[in-house]
Amino acid sequence: MRVGIIGAGQLGQMLGFAARDLGVECRFLDPSISPPARVCGDVIQRPFDDAVGLAELAATCDVITYEFENIPVNALQQIESMVPIYPPVDALRHAQDRLDEKQLFEQLGIPLPAYHVIDTPEDLAMAADALGLPMVIKTRRLGYDGKGQFVVRTGADIDGAWKALGGQPLIAERWVSFDFEVSSIGARNVDGEADTYALSLNDHRGGILRTSRSPADAPRLQERAAAYVRVLLEHLGYVGVLALELFVVDGRLLANEFAPRVHNSGHWTIEGAVTSQFENHLRAVMNLPLGSTANIGHAGMINLIGEIPESARSLKDVHLHNYGKMPRPGRKLGHITVVADSPEVRDALVEKIDKTVT
Ligand code: AMP
Repeated sequence: MRVGIIGAGQLGQMLGFAARDLGVECRFLDPSISPPARVCGDVIQRPFDDAVGLAELAATCDVITYEFENIPVNALQQIESMVPIYPPVDALRHAQDRLDEKQLFEQLGIPLPAYHVIDTPEDLAMAADALGLPMVIKTRRLGYDGKGQFVVRTGADIDGAWKALGGQPLIAERWVSFDFEVSSIGARNVDGEADTYALSLNDHRGGILRTSRSPADAPRLQERAAAYVRVLLEHLGYVGVLALELFVVDGRLLANEFAPRVHNSGHWTIEGAVTSQFENHLRAVMNLPLGSTANIGHAGMINLIGEIPESARSLKDVHLHNYGKMPRPGRKLGHITVVADSPEVRDALVEKIDKTVT
């Protein structure tokens, strides 16, 4: 069995490590010169939407998956008849457009923040009236880690928002004064066997995930979030791992977005769950039985962003993951996982490590 993976970044690398343990070969498609997943298998060095590269991947692999969601759907459609592609291309299409994604949440009864479609500068003023301020303007396509976003705090910001983002399809969202952010990660295999992991409690800084902790010690939220994930998995006929990001406001859940792939907020599952999200993604796309998603203790994950300081290497009793990327401000270079016997010990460790590596 050989799995083709579009994208050879850190998610591809962690999929590759899980594949190695399962005795499964991986082949990647990525235009970068020295991508992190090069250590896990052969990399076809061509653009993600390159017809020749995709055809070669399709011809030499038994199943194709992907590690990021900005792959043109029509490029994938060209190889769909040659090889199974999971998660399904239709799920990717929904996730690529924030409006489409929101309409899907509405259709499935998954609550979400109020929003407004923006096509003209006048729409921005109408959105401000309808949603109130602050509101956040987002590009409908190709946004990630808070990129392609502009917070309109007063009427005077509207011009600036249009200058920064205008000319492309946008949406405005009501600003959510959330108590915290969580994500629920689920997996479903080709036969329809599905399961979810314990909720992750996520802390973002500057739009980038900084820490995740799981379990989140909120059984009712856990149950509801998992139910939303299951509805998405079933509706989309989904195969693979899916992550749903949600805001928690006064005990209520509001869906922000879903990612049709393994997710940064699930990195703790490598050491903190019986079966990691990476192994379960592979199991799902190869139609193997899923492994247990149960936690092994109380897990915490700290992202290493911009640099991996020397201090990170001298920490004991933690799991350091260095993706082997060139340092650059704002770039995710690695992460650290801790697994503790209690939430109190876990939280203290996460806080200490976060301070050490910042
Ligand atoms: P996104 O790219 O939509 O996941 O946004 C990145 C981060 O920006 C989120 O994880 C939140 O921390 C913050 N954010 C996004 N949308 C909103 C919103 N409507 N209200 C408050 N914070 C938001």
